[in-house]
Amino acid sequence: MEFIDLKSQQARIKAKIDQRIQDVLCHGRYVMGPELDELEERLKNYVGTRHCIGASSGTDTLLIAMMALGIGPGDEVITVPFTWISTAEMIALVGATPVFVDIDETTWNMDVSKLESAITEKTKAIMPVGIFGQTADMTGINEIASRNGNLPVIEDAAQSFGATHHGKKSGGLSAIGSTSFFPSKPLGCYGDGGGLFTNDDELAERMRHIRVHGQTERHHHPILGINGRLDTLQAAILLEKLEIFDDEILRRQKVAQAYGDGIRNSSVTLPRVGPGNTSVFAQYTILSSNRDALAASLKEAGIPSVSYYAVPLHLQPVFDGLGCKKGQFPVTEDVASRGLSLPMNPYLSGEEVAAVCDVIVSAEG
Ligand SMILES: *Cc1c(COP(=O)(O)O)cnc(C)c1O
Repeated sequence: MEFIDLKSQQARIKAKIDQRIQDVLCHGRYVMGPELDELEERLKNYVGTRHCIGASSGTDTLLIAMMALGIGPGDEVITVPFTWISTAEMIALVGATPVFVDIDETTWNMDVSKLESAITEKTKAIMPVGIFGQTADMTGINEIASRNGNLPVIEDAAQSFGATHHGKKSGGLSAIGSTSFFPSKPLGCYGDGGGLFTNDDELAERMRHIRVHGQTERHHHPILGINGRLDTLQAAILLEKLEIFDDEILRRQKVAQAYGDGIRNSSVTLPRVGPGNTSVFAQYTILSSNRDALAASLKEAGIPSVSYYAVPLHLQPVFDGLGCKKGQFPVTEDVASRGLSLPMNPYLSGEEVAAVCDVIVSAEG
């Protein structure tokens, strides 16, 4: 059984992907080629924003977003400790300080009730994450941001791309949306890739410039930037993957439904989708107090599982300097100690899902 099944997906669209790759090899514009323009156009329409900027990864997009906002040393950016390293890593890389707010018990996303007290006069942005496939309460976060001096909200939508919050797509819910096209993400390419979304013309222009070394015109670099471009080949591949993306989301949601039906009546906690949200189930994560034993039983049955994220960011050695303590973010630490992500991909069969459920139900007695 595959944790993430990219082979079945490739088999489904192989001829079209091959053609797209051939087209790029033919025109030879490997960097900033026509497929990138086509993809940005399609993605901005998909998300419903005025702008989409393709980029080199979902890490570089966070960096570009903060550079565009002028965030640097002495500034604070509020985020969550329960996320992939990139989120806080990029805050620190621009020289700012990550300030953590715990997650809520229902969606495992930023606890909005704890956000406002974390805001100081140094706060320059709020960076919520759409963990495991659904967005944080972006409505609540935007409200708090706007009554605190219109703080920009950067949504890290690397896992929630394709999900909706009150009918609007993740990535288009705040000042800047950032996503990743890493192969295992809901919408993935065949290498590294990312995307930025905004309705703000000025920010979009700045982010476009930062993507190419702060260059505004040939041989003219008024601001610092990076090499943050999305390859033409990756854009070409994404164009074909985007065609089947909505169908794949439906399939993921059906798998999640089948897990929910099959795991019922056991002592594990199932993932819950927050009010107004849909989830793309980047991961299907359950909580179990026997997490490690359960992972071992699954492994014995040939079923892969992963403990996302066993060590939360406030306890990572790289952030020792922040002076965070064990016990400081109890919900994060609880989910980190009990969370287990099960195989999740659009091509899991009913039998495969049933096999996973069997192991969990019998292991939990
Ligand atoms: C994957 C991920 C990223 C980084 O994306 P890359 O494309 O791998 O750089 C950032 N944030 C979150 C929440 C992620 O899951």
